Amino acid sequence: MARETGPQCKQCRREGQKLFLKGERCLTDKCGVERRSYPPGEHGRGRQKQSEYRVQLREKQKARRYYGVLEKQFRIYYEKASRQQGVTGENLLRMLECRFDNVLVRLGFAASRRQARQLILHGHWTVNGRRVNIPSYQLRDDDVIAIHAESTATQVIRDATELTGQVPAWLQADHDSLTAKVLRRPERREIAAPVQEQLIVELYSK
Ligand code: SF4
Repeated sequence: MARETGPQCKQCRREGQKLFLKGERCLTDKCGVERRSYPPGEHGRGRQKQSEYRVQLREKQKARRYYGVLEKQFRIYYEKASRQQGVTGENLLRMLECRFDNVLVRLGFAASRRQARQLILHGHWTVNGRRVNIPSYQLRDDDVIAIHAESTATQVIRDATELTGQVPAWLQADHDSLTAKVLRRPERREIAAPVQEQLIVELYSK
């Protein structure tokens, strides 16, 4: 599975904000953004020109990095979103939000999307009783998520649940039995991604 492999803290520093890519470490003062709040690289502390294109590009890169999606796949999401009814930017975010790896993070069953992807790829989760090992799998209304009966990752997952604040209203989680349900797809206001999706639509519509 192709994925973003570069240093994660550099990705946050490039975007100038915490994208919470590393789980527990992101909540400590070891966070790369807290320690060095300027972009990485030789010219990181220099002045950067802020053209309209640059602002839109950075917003798209930020969304990609936040959800851990590569450029080609991100473009496919955009094209699907633009063919759906409704607001393209919101459709795009909704699809990203309903990825299996993201949903595990929202439920508190993984500390980061990278960890969620690994748990999914190694077959630790089922959807509606069937093992699903595709991190980009799109979850739908009434899907039931559960840890696989033979999973050996129970403790790792329980540790992750301890980092969780609140589970969003469109999901329902049972942290004791490690099961969950998708009640419905999220509204825009329920998607906590730090992204201005309109800028991404403007970028791709050029
Ligand atoms: Fe980003 Fe987390 Fe690294 Fe902080 S610790 S820079 S939030 S990945």
